[in-house]
Amino acid sequence: MLIKEKRRLIILIMSILFLLSGCSKDTTLYITEENGMYTASFLAMDTVMSFSIIGINAKAKIQKAYDYIMAFDDTYSAHSQNSEVVKVNAEASNGILISDNLAQQINTALKVSIMTNGAFDITVFPLVNLWGFYDGNYTVPDSDSIEKAIKSIGYEKIKLKDNMLYLEKDTQIDLGAIAKGYAGEKTAQLLMNLGIKSGMLSLGGNMQIFGLNAYGSKWNIAIQDPNDNNAYVGIIHNTDCSIITSGSYQRYFEKDSKKYHHIIDPHTGYPAESGLISVTVIADNGAYADALSTGLFVTGLDKAIEIWKEYQDFEAVFISDNNIIYITQGLADKFTSSSESYSFEYIYR
Ligand code: AMP
Ligand code: MG
Repeated sequence: MLIKEKRRLIILIMSILFLLSGCSKDTTLYITEENGMYTASFLAMDTVMSFSIIGINAKAKIQKAYDYIMAFDDTYSAHSQNSEVVKVNAEASNGILISDNLAQQINTALKVSIMTNGAFDITVFPLVNLWGFYDGNYTVPDSDSIEKAIKSIGYEKIKLKDNMLYLEKDTQIDLGAIAKGYAGEKTAQLLMNLGIKSGMLSLGGNMQIFGLNAYGSKWNIAIQDPNDNNAYVGIIHNTDCSIITSGSYQRYFEKDSKKYHHIIDPHTGYPAESGLISVTVIADNGAYADALSTGLFVTGLDKAIEIWKEYQDFEAVFISDNNIIYITQGLADKFTSSSESYSFEYIYR
């Protein structure tokens, strides 16, 4: 068992090395088996993915999940030639008919934009691009460029009726904050339709879980310590949900000893400085959990708690830059802390 564990770890590390060395085109699928649980590891959507499932013909079915993600990546990535998003950004000012998948993601995005008063906004693309988070050419833009980009940003510039989409001139969308959550849930549905009853899908740390693990209990999902790559702050014990984290430690560059991370406050044009360094959202819906984790990272703790109290359809773990971890009431019997570097507080309605 230990040897298999090690082999899985080595494959994952190999995948990460490929990613870091810029060989992000290597999308080879590695499948391992342990105690009847099959795990697929591969690169897709700019990240390392790892899908574990249990069930009859699991190996063939996990291959189908991989094929699904590869096709999804090709259709929704902002970098692919076949991308519907690229087409939309070029043509939607004249109106364009879009796929159901894209319409669902945009509708969820608009809902979360309204909930967060625009802290979450997929029209943030020109700013993401300006800072270099789209093509990897990181720069700190001058304030004039930021002011100019902000003018084309605003979720009210998106008009979606049924599948007909209009974007105002110069407005462009970026699904980076929602697509992995959406894809995770769709992949879980695909596997369940194929008769798989148990799965833990990690899309670069965005988790989608269903059924029970190989030991017959709920899945244990670790929450990464934002201040230490090799540690975690606690474990969520749950199933049949999405568990998605947004953090400033996940993607950033440094200039003149200052860190600039990838979650942009659409109102200021700068990386959000809300006092939070990590936000994990647990919800039934993958796209919703993904969008909310990004949005609540931007709003900061106080507003996030108001939203949590108002909507009552998600739970969350917030980590602040002064080492306090806030856990919402609904996780009281599902969260186990495992770090002495933080203090833990529960939030009640
Ligand atoms: P996530 O990792 O899910 O928090 O998403 C972060 C990614 O979403 C960034 O890399 C950008 O592509 C995009 N993004 C950044 N800021 C925002 C924002 N305020 N609203 C929506 N998308 C954003
Ligand atoms: Mg997100």
